Amino acid sequence: DVPVLTLDGPGGAGKGTISRLVADELGWHLLDSGALYRLTALAAERQGVNFSDTAALAQVARELNVAFLPCEGGAQVLLEEEDVSHEIRKEHVGGWASEVASMPPVRDALLKRQRDFARPPGLVADGRDMGTVVFPQASLKIFLTASAEERARRRQAQLQSSGSHASLPDLLKEIQTRDERDMQRAVAPLVAARDAITLDTTELTIPDVVARIGALLTE
Ligand code: C5P
Repeated sequence: DVPVLTLDGPGGAGKGTISRLVADELGWHLLDSGALYRLTALAAERQGVNFSDTAALAQVARELNVAFLPCEGGAQVLLEEEDVSHEIRKEHVGGWASEVASMPPVRDALLKRQRDFARPPGLVADGRDMGTVVFPQASLKIFLTASAEERARRRQAQLQSSGSHASLPDLLKEIQTRDERDMQRAVAPLVAARDAITLDTTELTIPDVVARIGALLTE
């Protein structure tokens, strides 16, 4: 069996950065499951699909033509051969993603696609339900958290480095709205798997977190 490390948690807890660093260090594949929900939402938007049409959204998810090309410091994300790496990170696309992610047929449509990422020598899976739904047999499950204020600050710094700007109160509100929706939805709500280890990263640096996960992996 291919070893799988799952990293779940709310937005802005550092999952993206940490997953990539850990995957690089181990030489394992990386699944950015949030990107699949973002891509589904973006593709649906572009095709003019009504967001209340669950069946049509699931169809979009099933037919998604995407590619993740590893590149310096991340992955280039292609939708229908077009580079949408920046587009899918935008705040409003995250909002749409959280909307389509609350629909069971959309989640089902993406399930097999996500499991197909588990290939030798191993997989680091980043998301909300990696340890609970997609890879319940994972070898190690981590639940990454951080205070909402800290996550808003990190998100602001991330936006600044990509040349955009948003105010802290706005970001905090957006983060809290999204968390609430992710935690309260009926399907695959954001909760730690029973056998997950929770790491609160509010006071930790990125290298701290990577080192802790490395230690847990060799335990
Ligand atoms: O992690 P990211 O911010 O890219 O995820 C965008 C949205 O996709 C989340 O707010 C969440 O609603 C949804 N998502 C999910 N399950 C996952 C990954 C993301 O429901 N495994």
